[in-house]
Amino acid sequence: MDQGPIVRRDQRKRNRISAERVSADSNLRDGSRPTTSHPFETGQYAPPMRRRPAYDTVIIGAGPAGTSAAIAFKRVSPDRRVAIVDQASFPRDKACGDGLGPGVLSVLDRLGLSAMLDDEPRRRTVEVRGPGDVRVTGALPQLHGKEECGVVMERLRFDHRLYSAAIASGVADYTGWRFTGTAVRGDARLVELVRGDESLTLSTGLLVGADGAGSRVRRALGVERNSDRHTGIGIRAYAEIRDPDGVHPDRLFLDYAERLNPGYGWVFPLRDGRSNIGVFTVVADFKERRSRTTDLLGAFVERLESHGYSVSGISSERTFVLPNAAGLPKLAHPRAALIGDAASMINPWSGEGVFYGMEAGRLLATATAPVLRATDASLDRALRSFEREFRRRFSSHFRGCHLAHRITRSKVMSARILRVADRDERVFRYLTSLMFGEAGVEPRMLARMALKGLWSRGGRLRIAGGR
Ligand SMILES: Cc1cc2nc3c(=O)[nH]c(=O)nc-3n(C[C@H](O)[C@H](O)[C@H](O)COP(=O)(O)OP(=O)(O)OC[C@H]3O[C@@H](n4cnc5c(N)ncnc54)[C@H](O)[C@@H]3O)c2cc1C
Repeated sequence: MDQGPIVRRDQRKRNRISAERVSADSNLRDGSRPTTSHPFETGQYAPPMRRRPAYDTVIIGAGPAGTSAAIAFKRVSPDRRVAIVDQASFPRDKACGDGLGPGVLSVLDRLGLSAMLDDEPRRRTVEVRGPGDVRVTGALPQLHGKEECGVVMERLRFDHRLYSAAIASGVADYTGWRFTGTAVRGDARLVELVRGDESLTLSTGLLVGADGAGSRVRRALGVERNSDRHTGIGIRAYAEIRDPDGVHPDRLFLDYAERLNPGYGWVFPLRDGRSNIGVFTVVADFKERRSRTTDLLGAFVERLESHGYSVSGISSERTFVLPNAAGLPKLAHPRAALIGDAASMINPWSGEGVFYGMEAGRLLATATAPVLRATDASLDRALRSFEREFRRRFSSHFRGCHLAHRITRSKVMSARILRVADRDERVFRYLTSLMFGEAGVEPRMLARMALKGLWSRGGRLRIAGGR
């Protein structure tokens, strides 16, 4: 028989958990204990063992990674009881460039959601500008045979669509609840949630940490956060932007300007005539520079204006961190897995993360859904196989992006690499496939770039630390 979540009531207010959320509160056991000292930390918490957990999987975080995992679990095994938890209520904003590359379109397709972005205009072109005003323009890369395009859509809207699709597929909704702790008990994992004065414990066969860059699940599993060198910081805003011809830009624009080095600025055009504009850099460099993210954004706006762009109506500035995949941690844990930003699945060069988080959610569900009710050993094997598959797909790609990031830390190399890309279509396509696709380290491409002039006459390629 299914068992309901375990509910603990705060002694002071004795708030009732809503009836539709909690089917049974027979597990209520410590109503007299104050909630101020956390039972998982004091070791006092010892709920009764159950033959079957209340949920086959509980996913913390209803961003793209968590919702994709939830949808995929229901697609692979419709009878699995899946719950999704988020401290926010949807729709909610998320600091992001709002750029959804070809990878996102391909995952949506695999999740049976290809119609989700049908009404959004396609962006097919990318323009990259570098130090010394080198400029190169071309098409986005093709991925898994899908059209070469991306979409720019506010995360407020995109994430709400994914969340709604997850709930429509039969996933239990715990939005408004914040994850605070977890512990393995017998053949289940207990998951502690709070909402205001209420607290609630769910038991599950598998906990999925998809709770973003500041992941509390990651911390609870004892996984260290990324170093400052492997963490980005970005500021995004919305603005009215007209290009030098006075029209709304229709391409993804990236600017590796000297003043932003080793980061870059972007202008991504939205459907409503506004653009998402922002700047991305590395936390370690940002701390050294002792500036503010708003100063970086100001420097980028000045640069745009100096190139004939008009920029007005800047609003909704928001800063957030981006732990990148050069610090990819262990993904598989006892009855738990990490995906998305919680697992540092961000491209070290471009800062793109939506695609990898969504694909990780899909791969995790494919590997584990069939064995969620099996023994610990089969689940462990499935979790390890998920981690192997993710690394097989993306390790070389992330290494390539990390290398590109190291190379473009040097202004000289940044300019040179763009000049080579301007002269050679294949090099351009390779570079955009590192940014928005799945290209890995390709020695032949490196050799080709070298031959085309990546090395200065008689000079040596400087990869690390250059400015
Ligand atoms: C400035 C900036 C620009 C970016 N631009 C792009 C871009 O253009 N394209 C791109 O692909 N990527 C971009 N990224 C990266 C992208 O935003 C992330 O990779 C992506 O959001 C990761 O999705 P996620 O589902 O892992 O996490 P998130 O989208 O962060 O979702 C995590 C969810 O977990 C919830 N949560 C957190 N803690 C708890 C808790 N304790 N309990 C319950 N819920 C919790 C949060 O409310 C949130 O809804 C950018 C990032 C930044 C900061």
